[in-house]
Amino acid sequence: MASVTLQIHVRPRPVITASSSSSSTRTFDVVIIGAGIIGLTIARQFLIGSDLSVAVVDKDVPCSGATGAGQGYLWMVHKEPESDTWDLTMRSHELWEMFAESVRAQGLDPMQELGWKQTGSLLVGRTAEEAAMLKTKVKKLSEAGLRAEYLTSHDLRLEEPALEVGEHGGAAFLPDDCQLDAQRAVAFIQKANRHFASKGRYAEFFHDPVTSLLRSDSSSEVDGVQTSKNKLYSKKALIVAAGCWSGSLIHDLFRESNILLNVPVKPRKGHLVVLENFSCLRLNHGLMEMGYVDHLHDAVDCKSSDSVEAVEGLTLSVSMTATMDTVGNLVLGSSRQFTGYSTKVDESIINNIWKRAGEFFPKLKELCLEDFTLDRKVRVGLRPYMPDGKPVIGPVPALMNVIIATGHEGGGLSMALSTAEMVADMVLGNPGIVDSAAFAVQGRCC
Ligand SMILES: Cc1cc2nc3c(=O)[nH]c(=O)nc-3n(C[C@H](O)[C@H](O)[C@H](O)COP(=O)(O)OP(=O)(O)OC[C@H]3O[C@@H](n4cnc5c(N)ncnc54)[C@H](O)[C@@H]3O)c2cc1C
Repeated sequence: MASVTLQIHVRPRPVITASSSSSSTRTFDVVIIGAGIIGLTIARQFLIGSDLSVAVVDKDVPCSGATGAGQGYLWMVHKEPESDTWDLTMRSHELWEMFAESVRAQGLDPMQELGWKQTGSLLVGRTAEEAAMLKTKVKKLSEAGLRAEYLTSHDLRLEEPALEVGEHGGAAFLPDDCQLDAQRAVAFIQKANRHFASKGRYAEFFHDPVTSLLRSDSSSEVDGVQTSKNKLYSKKALIVAAGCWSGSLIHDLFRESNILLNVPVKPRKGHLVVLENFSCLRLNHGLMEMGYVDHLHDAVDCKSSDSVEAVEGLTLSVSMTATMDTVGNLVLGSSRQFTGYSTKVDESIINNIWKRAGEFFPKLKELCLEDFTLDRKVRVGLRPYMPDGKPVIGPVPALMNVIIATGHEGGGLSMALSTAEMVADMVLGNPGIVDSAAFAVQGRCC
């Protein structure tokens, strides 16, 4: 984005207004819609990287969207070096490592604070054909500069004894890949953001949906947002980071304007099963089956103007992902389907996830999921899916002070920190570290 001139800004009074019922009018430099991982890390970036004041507004609370359901893997093993998201993801992982290091530098334990673990990741295949593809993948990942290794089924038995891939199977192994706990990481980021409230630079407005835009007649710019309880003016930028709701929200916000904007982001529902304090098998690494990559990129055969209802009923896909978190919970995923905005748990999908995991971990076949009812949790979230498989990060062409940051589908935790950096650089007029052209609004949403 063309640089936005820095203005002297009036700092608002320190406010934390979570669930405040009195209505107010406030002015901030930046107003962010959405307190998921994308919105909160963008807030963090402005707070630590500038002197701007920031408000975060959410219709609910942090982690109520896709973020709260995230499995937490920050992996490169299933990424393609030539893809548009490669540099964004690489940069984000670098920033996550620096983040974990900064936690350590504060005398805190990133494992405790963020659920941070360098477990390495395994992308596993069970046929000779998949094994051949995995070898090619390892070659490409190595050429792209990552430490990557192909493991035969024999190697895998030593590395991950609970896993069974058959004699022809194998895995791509990336020992440097990490994972975190989304809810803990969000809590940590939120706490750090709140330190800026006392300096008058940060405020939260939760349980307070954005309902319309504030626009003055004299300017073509957006001045801020009206929420159910407040008027929030944004002097420099309004950021829309409302996950899978971004498209419908933008549609509503711009309905009465002459700006044609259609953000084709759709909710892609996912289930995860969490088995608490699971002692029946241990994992040394994070695992994902090769089929995940195909399911991730399954395109929806619909035009960007199609309604969510029009893509309902598309085939459910379930591919095995397995991680063990820092407190010994086994987290099994994951499903993908387009069923609108419902987050209702579907027991048949849970059974599917369990059955699929059993294909890779024979021990699970000896166990009955019903026996874990008391120690079982299910997470459901709506991934913000973009039909072209990459997020939208950039200003709205006709309204350069409105920036959209959404559409990270199954990689929002992974790509959060570089997305935040990109958005802040756009607003501050800094040269970007990662080229943002592939993520532009123009040509994809208008
Ligand atoms: C089962 C599952 C597993 C996953 N595993 C991983 C993983 O291992 N690694 C990874 O990188 N990613 C993973 N993801 C993807 C990741 O969780 C998402 O990409 C990411 O959370 C998206 O973040 P977000 O902030 O864009 O959206 P959200 O977290 O959905 O946040 C959007 C926020 O906007 C708010 N909002 C909506 N409308 C309004 C309004 N009108 N006014 C105010 N606020 C509004 C919502 O309440 C919500 O809090 C997973 C997702 C799922 C579902």
